[in-house]
Amino acid sequence: MAARGRHRPIRTCVACGRRAPREELRRMVVVGGKVVFDHRRRLPGRGAWLCPGRDCLERLARDKGRDRVFRRRLGEEAWREVFTALEGPEQAESEAEKG
Ligand SMILES: [Zn+2]
Repeated sequence: MAARGRHRPIRTCVACGRRAPREELRRMVVVGGKVVFDHRRRLPGRGAWLCPGRDCLERLARDKGRDRVFRRRLGEEAWREVFTALEGPEQAESEAEKG
């Protein structure tokens, strides 16, 4: 791992409040009124950050006030795309980091 110790931007997960280097979190942005994952972290606009595991995605799915993370009113429909990940089979992604 290249730990240069330079400027490592820290971001906060909007679901659990965990702070982590941004390369450990997933970025979401609003494109055309829809929330999408910005896998390359290149899309312009206000981003929101989320832990990669399923837990925080579920937490956000249950959060009725989640529109606040983008400071605009989006509504249920706009979030559909990011939550489709929850409908698929369960992925055992980050089991190691509990506790
Ligand atoms: Zn989180």
